[in-house]
Amino acid sequence: MILEPNPLASLPQYSDEELAEFNREFERLPASKIIQWGVDNFAPHLCLSASMTDAVLIDLAVKVYPAIEVVFIDTGYHFPETLETVENVRRKYGLNLRMMTVQHHDEELWKLDPENCCSAVKVGQLDRALMGKAAWMSGLRRVEAASRESAPIIARDLRGLVKLNPIAAWSDDDVAGYIEDHDVPVNPLTLQGYPSIGCMPCTQPVADGEDPRAGRWAGRDKTECGLHDM
Ligand code: SF4
Repeated sequence: MILEPNPLASLPQYSDEELAEFNREFERLPASKIIQWGVDNFAPHLCLSASMTDAVLIDLAVKVYPAIEVVFIDTGYHFPETLETVENVRRKYGLNLRMMTVQHHDEELWKLDPENCCSAVKVGQLDRALMGKAAWMSGLRRVEAASRESAPIIARDLRGLVKLNPIAAWSDDDVAGYIEDHDVPVNPLTLQGYPSIGCMPCTQPVADGEDPRAGRWAGRDKTECGLHDM
């Protein structure tokens, strides 16, 4: 039997100490340079996971690497506005979009057990999308929630992959300014009281001054879906 060579074997293998050192350096770099580092090290075995709240990270990434694979997890529970945003963004950037579509399921697991629902629907699809990848990026930011305050710009995830959060240090004003300056598409729900948008049954609008993620799984202890567990 002839064994196929592992395409990831030739990529850089960084220790946790080296990633921590990069993390310190990246605090001083603009997002586009951080993305460039990711592309230089890992492309094409690198993708971007998008929530489609806005397309800021996508806009930054396609300017560095137009062929970047953008993953969107279609849970079957999204708002119509989110699916329209996916299509608008896909067309505007000619995206290399990979839709991870979850098979329709009749039972409403999100009502009974949202932890397991997120784990089966979102995390399971992300695991599939990341098979064969060495690294991935997300638009997670520290100011989004207390649970994200200390998010690193680069670290190893639970799968052992390199995870980049190139705009982790951006403020809401930084994002708003970038959207305006670069005419970046946004999910129209962001203008209707939804600063953080997930699945329809688990997302409510928030009042002015409230934690932006207060509308996610409102009334439950749950604050994260597990996609960003490190
Ligand atoms: S956000 Fe809600 S509906 Fe979506 S996967 Fe998680 S529990 Fe299920």
